[in-house]
Amino acid sequence: MCSLLAVRTGEALSHASVEAKPLVVILMGPPGAGKGTHAGPLSHELALPHISTGDLFRENIRNQTPLGLKAKEFIDQGKLVPDDLVLDMLFNRISKDDCKQGYLLDGFPRTVAQAQAFEQRLGSSSTLLALHFAVEDEALVERITGRLSCKQCSRPHHLKFDPPKAPGQCDSCGGPLYQRDDDREEVLRKRLEVYHTQTEPLIAHFSKKEGLLLEVDSIGSKEEVFHRVLETLDASH
Ligand code: AMP
Repeated sequence: MCSLLAVRTGEALSHASVEAKPLVVILMGPPGAGKGTHAGPLSHELALPHISTGDLFRENIRNQTPLGLKAKEFIDQGKLVPDDLVLDMLFNRISKDDCKQGYLLDGFPRTVAQAQAFEQRLGSSSTLLALHFAVEDEALVERITGRLSCKQCSRPHHLKFDPPKAPGQCDSCGGPLYQRDDDREEVLRKRLEVYHTQTEPLIAHFSKKEGLLLEVDSIGSKEEVFHRVLETLDASH
């Protein structure tokens, strides 16, 4: 069965018609590895919504909700937001109708405890895959400190590697581009440290289950890496 390829190429009418279980794809990797960049196109290819916990927090911060105010103090320091806040927010989001066939998770889980809580909630009701975007730290600093994000749709661009066609404007929706506060170098260094100590152990956690963890070399152009993503997903089923 090659359900992912079938969906991509339009051989199947819908994901549900070839795969009874919803498909949950976890996008993993350090900040700047390409999760946000590839999430949009992959969401389109698989016809599944893209759920980024970072974007959900930023939306709450913009709207000044109680959750946003609590999360902001952690985010501004490059630290992880406590699990109870993350899990409530995420479980609320994935209970929505558009997630019934599955979804892409970007930025979640960030700890083994989050993964366990999530797996417990899913049970055996969904097919779970984790795509790990692998990049060395040195490459990440340049990628992140040159990153510009869209205020409206969150799509990332890069001053050098993916410059917007019109300066300061998102190529996808025309929204204004800005540098996230936590993309400044000093905060990024803290985020990388947090990634290595708290998130990287997830790789060992997911590799215990056969076929769950898929590795993608994330060095190369956006197109090259995305091609690898699709090949890796197709080969996995
Ligand atoms: P991101 O956009 O994924 O880089 O997330 C930005 C920030 O939001 C992170 O540095 C964390 O402070 C917070 N955050 C996002 N997702 C999570 C999560 N799953 N657990 C804890 N904190 C998170």
